[in-house]
Amino acid sequence: MSFTVAIDGPAAAGKGTVSKAVAAHFGFAHLDTGLLYRAVGRKVLQGVDAITAAKTLMAEELQAPDLRTQAVAEAASKVAVIPQVRAALVAFQRDFARREGGAVLDGRDIGTVICPEAEVKLFVTASAECRAERRFAELKQSDPELSLATVLSDVRARDARDSERSEAPLKPAGDAVMIDTTTLTIEEAVAQATAVIAAKRPG
Ligand code: C5P
Repeated sequence: MSFTVAIDGPAAAGKGTVSKAVAAHFGFAHLDTGLLYRAVGRKVLQGVDAITAAKTLMAEELQAPDLRTQAVAEAASKVAVIPQVRAALVAFQRDFARREGGAVLDGRDIGTVICPEAEVKLFVTASAECRAERRFAELKQSDPELSLATVLSDVRARDARDSERSEAPLKPAGDAVMIDTTTLTIEEAVAQATAVIAAKRPG
């Protein structure tokens, strides 16, 4: 039996944390779809053409150690506006979503484009300031030169690029349940998501 949970939202809203926690709770497989775009962005930084990189992407490339850097995130959001890049990544995501035993996919367009039939759709968001502070706390150990102002302007630039693109823009599906994590602890956000999924789960 397949059961798909689609979790969308902007960068650093907490959707990755919520997705991992609910996947573990229900025993579902989890795919962070941002890694697909990051892996393509990383190859573009190495000089590969974006569409070729997307068409030839291999599962091992999702394990590359440097996918979480700001440079790769920037490159990812640039390749993500290219329709042929997005199209090349659709089948992998849909196959993952319909696997036996349940799947959680997190990204920007899972509930709207990749899995409009998902049994559960969540949109996890938070204010830009709050997201920048969280990202800054994560990144400052590895990059002591980084400032909060730079992270906030990167978050805003990425939001604008993700929301304003014509292909699969970041937006909640009409039937998505909104979870605003600005004033929630991780435990509270996970509890809200778990309750929504539990209510829709068969049996
Ligand atoms: O979620 P993450 O920050 O890793 O995503 C990196 C970039 O990949 C995003 O800024 C977005 O441009 C793109 N992305 C996308 N669609 C998805 C997941 C990520 O366009 N489903």
